[in-house]
Amino acid sequence: MTMFRLDGKHALVTGASRGIGFEAARQLRELGAEVTIAARRPEELRAAAERIGARWVPADVSRLVDVQRAVDAAGDVDILVSNAGGPPPGLPSQVDEEAWATGFETTFMSTVRLVDGVLAGMRERGWGRIIAITSLTVRRPALNLPVSNAMRAAVTNHLRTLSLEVAADGVTCNAVAPGYTATERLKRLHSDAAEARRVQESIPARRFGAPAEVAAAIAFLASNEAAYITGQEIVVDGGFTI
Ligand code: NAD
Repeated sequence: MTMFRLDGKHALVTGASRGIGFEAARQLRELGAEVTIAARRPEELRAAAERIGARWVPADVSRLVDVQRAVDAAGDVDILVSNAGGPPPGLPSQVDEEAWATGFETTFMSTVRLVDGVLAGMRERGWGRIIAITSLTVRRPALNLPVSNAMRAAVTNHLRTLSLEVAADGVTCNAVAPGYTATERLKRLHSDAAEARRVQESIPARRFGAPAEVAAAIAFLASNEAAYITGQEIVVDGGFTI
């Protein structure tokens, strides 16, 4: 089976010490790509990198200097997976200036800056994959996640706009929007078993997704076979946003 192989490609995956980002990095490695992973905490990051045979570079993607360091350390990046932790919850009427600014830097500008760092090389080589991990909240805003709802919509539309400019250069730009996905973070947020069951009952698939199921969409979009898919958003949510 030679479909979906990524031998000779180099991926940079941020927010990849655990959760969906880690699983995306693991699948890209399995498909043959060289992978560099980035996240904030060096010890956790190094352990994650060792598990999958990836390179690693500590970086807080909300900071421009860190993004530049990560891009420089990664070298020629063919596949960018832009990811970070989600903004904290709160009601829309209660978000203060600082929370908006943090969300803007962490969720939106991180993607803009990562793209700025890798795009020229992708266009020169005539091949590139830009993939942002967003959220089901782009399709169905969650009342208690106003910063996430706004910033992820901005990421989605930035990539759709960029796709118009770079499609003819062999560079695709897409978003993967996870629904409820059973990462450690989600398990902590829904540690109450009755509450977790109630949420799962509201999902047509009647279960949380697995990180590997979101990562599979990312791996597909990274492949040669997905060359004609650009400016799109793949929602991986068990039907929740239908
Ligand atoms: P997670 O918290 O398990 O993992 C997030 C990763 O990003 C970790 O490696 C963390 O160290 C890293 N990170 C956080 N902030 C960072 C920063 N500023 N710079 C660099 N690295 C940073 O999250 P997850 O569940 O894997 O989710 C991944 C993304 O998908 C998040 O943005 C999340 O909000 C979004 N999402 C998740 C779900 C879900 O149910 N899990 C649903 C919708 C959207």
